[in-house]
Amino acid sequence: MRSLVLAERGVFRTTGPATLAAAGAAARIGAETDLLVAGAEDGYLERAVSEAARIQGISNVLFSAAAHYADPSPENIAALAESAASRYSHILAPSTAFWRSALPRLAALLGVAQISDVVAVESPEIFTHSVYSGSALVRVRPSDAIKLMTVRTSAFKPAAREEEGKEERARIVRIPALPDQALSRIVSRKAGEDEGKGGRPGLTAARAVVTGGRGLGSAEAYRRLLEPLAERLGAALGATRAAVDSGFASHDRQIGQTGKTVAPRLYVAAGLSGAIQHLAGMRDSRIIVAINSDADAPIFQVADCGLVADAASAIPELLEALGDAPHISG
Ligand SMILES: Cc1cc2nc3c(=O)[nH]c(=O)nc-3n(C[C@H](O)[C@H](O)[C@H](O)COP(=O)(O)OP(=O)(O)OC[C@H]3O[C@@H](n4cnc5c(N)ncnc54)[C@H](O)[C@@H]3O)c2cc1C
Repeated sequence: MRSLVLAERGVFRTTGPATLAAAGAAARIGAETDLLVAGAEDGYLERAVSEAARIQGISNVLFSAAAHYADPSPENIAALAESAASRYSHILAPSTAFWRSALPRLAALLGVAQISDVVAVESPEIFTHSVYSGSALVRVRPSDAIKLMTVRTSAFKPAAREEEGKEERARIVRIPALPDQALSRIVSRKAGEDEGKGGRPGLTAARAVVTGGRGLGSAEAYRRLLEPLAERLGAALGATRAAVDSGFASHDRQIGQTGKTVAPRLYVAAGLSGAIQHLAGMRDSRIIVAINSDADAPIFQVADCGLVADAASAIPELLEALGDAPHISG
């Protein structure tokens, strides 16, 4: 038995929270574990590999360098992972946008089933994963020789890292790069409206998220009510799909099945009903506060704290009540 963790794409994210959570899930399997990293042949990759070698529980860091791994396509990375796969009984990747695209390709190349969104590792043979946008959990015992899975990053304790300057724990092993398949190319890339801009945290990394739904009524009300609250809490701003479709916010703020998945310490849901597709993206939040004028809104079933009120008056009152209380931190 041996596990391979596939690092999150991009050298700056190699040892970020998503990879560490996948390494944490691999630790639950209990087998010796390696990590695969790819990037362009430069100082950034060298640094990422050296940082990866300090992740606790990792025996070997396999790395591959080529210009086309600088901003890799899912096809190129899936092929690289396939070239290393035969030595492993388990292959784990974080359930991020990149791996949700790349891992099915790897599954097809290997001819094995993919287990998506694993939330618990019961044993090296039995895994629990969520289905129907998180509305049900299934325990599976896959019979494939290689058990291939994406893991929900908020469900696993991240692997720890040795401090910088300490000796690397893992062996570093170069594996050959494969030719560029050139099946797709990124033509341009634009930073999301809210990704860490203007001093506000990016949605997926934020400790607090304030989300507005269609019930806020207009784009003007969304901004007027939510921006001061987000500012006050040091929170990122989110939106439901209905709010996005109504033009209250851009799509990169959408949370849910077809948007982003967040798991902050505090989630404030204002003027949104709590549709199952929305819950899929936020139900792992630690404390959920709901403000809705309808006492029967489904969001109250998952909320830790609910306020049946008109958001237009409740949010300014909440802001006033917060006064000088400290920000969300830690
Ligand atoms: C395949 C598919 C994928 C989807 N993906 C997503 C997704 O990723 N994310 C997502 O969010 N949705 C998604 N949806 C849409 C989802 O089903 C819901 O339609 C959507 O989440 C509803 O958004 P909402 O809660 O803002 O609006 P509504 O359901 O219209 O709810 C508005 C709420 O505001 C309350 N309200 C009204 N006025 C006020 C007021 N003055 N003060 C306080 N509360 C008030 C109402 O009581 C109501 O509960 C998807 C749907 C499908 C079919």
